[in-house]
Amino acid sequence: MSSHPTATSVYIHFPWCARKCPYCDFATEPIRAEELPHEAYADALLRELEARANDLHGRALKSVFFGGGTPSLWTPAALGRVLGAIRATFEAEVEDLEITVECNPSSLTRQNAARLREVGVGRLSVGVQSLRDPHLKFLGRLHDSERAKKALVEATAEVPRVSADLMFGMPGQTSAELGDDIARIADTGVLHVSAYALTIEDKTMFGSLHRAGKLRVASEDQYASLFEQVEERFTDLGWEHYEVSNYAAPGEESLHNLHYWRGGAYVGLGAAAVGCLDHETGRAERWRNDPSPQRYLTRSTLDTKTETLGPDEIVRESLMLGLRTAEGMNVRDTRRRAGSDPEAGREMEIAQAIEHGNLVRDGDWLRVPRSRWLKLDGIVRDLF
Ligand code: SF4
Repeated sequence: MSSHPTATSVYIHFPWCARKCPYCDFATEPIRAEELPHEAYADALLRELEARANDLHGRALKSVFFGGGTPSLWTPAALGRVLGAIRATFEAEVEDLEITVECNPSSLTRQNAARLREVGVGRLSVGVQSLRDPHLKFLGRLHDSERAKKALVEATAEVPRVSADLMFGMPGQTSAELGDDIARIADTGVLHVSAYALTIEDKTMFGSLHRAGKLRVASEDQYASLFEQVEERFTDLGWEHYEVSNYAAPGEESLHNLHYWRGGAYVGLGAAAVGCLDHETGRAERWRNDPSPQRYLTRSTLDTKTETLGPDEIVRESLMLGLRTAEGMNVRDTRRRAGSDPEAGREMEIAQAIEHGNLVRDGDWLRVPRSRWLKLDGIVRDLF
């Protein structure tokens, strides 16, 4: 192994949920608990891992994230088998290796949390979304607010680090209700929250209802004021707004997500998983696995769509991901990875953004100040 192994993360997609939520466009299918192929899915993942093992030489495992879907439906034993194989495949791992599992309150028990800890999981990300029953009902969730709260309390009792997902922008939701959700989540001992605005995606039940004029959505002004409310509440708690949708108590940032936003290499395993590995300066390969869980379970070779990223794509990715974070995009690091100057060809746009207060230059870093994050998409688009 070279003296500088490339830090590389692994994402494992678990493509099933107990029920499909009406707003969700993730690659996941509803399944009955008794039909879950616990061991067969682990076997299929191990086959994919083996097929990709050659690409992992000279790399150090940075973080592992089991996402979905609902990985808490999976038996901890099957998940642990996959985790063990991943750790055995890498020749090295970083000292602060972070291992996260996404969970839903309806399928997370204290016993499950304890068993996940025993197989090496150190962080749970729990999809509570809200602590108000009318909002949970509107979102079509299987849990109520009592269950959500209990899941957070039990998770924090068993596993060192716990994050909660929070959603805002439900019709009629007030700032006071949202502030109350945040206070109650923080009370459980959770030290990280991902807070997302409810968006209406085309290919979802909410998308159809919205097209038919049967679903009210929050106005842009309401979203903006709720977004500001979230930021204010977490700032009052002393948490850091370290990425547009993510808040953490000091030192509790998600290392997996930071690695991704910094343009780090990652392997994606499982149906619908996406991975991207750097091969040399200015060249990376991104792949997207076949989204069908049924085909994934039975295929014997990789079924993957790949695309090669050149210097321009690497720079654009870096702008798109880095500028979402409080630290911003590191110009020097991007230049090193892309083999091309990220500022070349966009000098005027950068100067204008700086002049308008939409961009700040700070040594090697370019960042969008927090006060402009509501306009982030437009700011980044202007730099493309
Ligand atoms: S539980 Fe999560 S991944 Fe599953 S359908 Fe609902 S929102 Fe989507």
